[in-house]
Amino acid sequence: MVIKTLNDYNIANKKILVRVDLNVPIENGKISDTSRLISVIPTIETIQALGGKTILISHFGRPNGLYKEELSLKQVIPDLEKLLNCPVKFSSELIGENVIKKIVNLESSEVLLLENTRFFAEEENNEESFSKELSKLGDIFCNDAFSASHRAHASTVGVSKLLPNCAGQLMKKEIDTLANVLKNPQKPLTAVIGGAKISTKLDLLLNLIKKVDFLVIGGGMANTFLFAKGLQIGNSLCEENLKETSLRIISACNDNNCEIILPHDVVVASEFVANTNYNVKSVLDINNKDMILDIGPSTCDKINEIFSMSKTIIWNGPMGAFELEPFDKGTIQTSVYASKLTKNGKLISVAGGGDTVSALKKSGAEKDFTYVSLAGGAFLEWMEGKKLPGVECLL
Ligand code: AMP
Repeated sequence: MVIKTLNDYNIANKKILVRVDLNVPIENGKISDTSRLISVIPTIETIQALGGKTILISHFGRPNGLYKEELSLKQVIPDLEKLLNCPVKFSSELIGENVIKKIVNLESSEVLLLENTRFFAEEENNEESFSKELSKLGDIFCNDAFSASHRAHASTVGVSKLLPNCAGQLMKKEIDTLANVLKNPQKPLTAVIGGAKISTKLDLLLNLIKKVDFLVIGGGMANTFLFAKGLQIGNSLCEENLKETSLRIISACNDNNCEIILPHDVVVASEFVANTNYNVKSVLDINNKDMILDIGPSTCDKINEIFSMSKTIIWNGPMGAFELEPFDKGTIQTSVYASKLTKNGKLISVAGGGDTVSALKKSGAEKDFTYVSLAGGAFLEWMEGKKLPGVECLL
């Protein structure tokens, strides 16, 4: 089935209720990364160009159904106005007569942002009466928040059933890219999975094994695999209780013709502190005091070779404890290599997940990747092969 877009409707003078994700990070009272704001601009500009009225709704943080001044969406207005190069009106109320009056008075192409949907407990409970109130705010519902589509909330799923609906530009791009990469990829297909733990990515690993030709494992989770294979891993992060699970994953890779690549050399230190003394060691030489904090240079070369053989890669999780130098090198070297292949038209590279995006931004690889999804949980659930309620309800 095909998802409708704004182009399937006559937008002129219509009230378009747009669910966006304006959940931006705030540091010292300031927005530290405007990527999420930038990502919703194309949809708003499309509505403006078609003469529609844009009514934006979004969640922001976790206020748990209560008003919290520090989580008011009012604070995103200045940045949003700068990016859109036009005024953005604000309503401190989300539903009710006053908001409806404001909307009626909107001129075509004007933009109105409503207050945080999560100030109402009914939002996360997906209560029908609340969805009904939201549906009174628009003629058409447009969902542009793929990153919120793994949860069935009133502002994603509930309201979509009560109004003619469609996907915004970002949502459409995200669905098309992600569907292509796992359902219809150019092969060989490689998954690069890193990060701290296997336990949080078990479903993802099990789903990917059936689909990919190469499975590259890095980060802390590789330690558990090395431990399961009977190697010493010293003081490294490890989920010893997942020894059997790790062995089952390795054997499932064999059964599914999927080559698993684990680190054969690593960067070790005795403490996790920036610029501390470190060594590069074979995984066969780890002692009791060693803490594995990154993949080694020879493993980077091996991974880069795999990238050269691949047509598509899909990436989640850093290869090491990338927040501190020098343990960011493995992630930097491999992601920069993937970005170069992509720039030269030799590779399709798709990445997602909160820490992954930060790591790729740090390495500068992000700008040349084919697609970097800003969705954290939704990206992971999609990689796990799950159906996302916020997408399903648009089909
Ligand atoms: P995740 O959210 O599961 O993708 O995990 C990301 C976190 O994994 C980052 O904070 C990294 O610092 C951490 N990480 C990656 N490799 C290691 C490692 N070898 N030891 C400890 N933590 C790691």
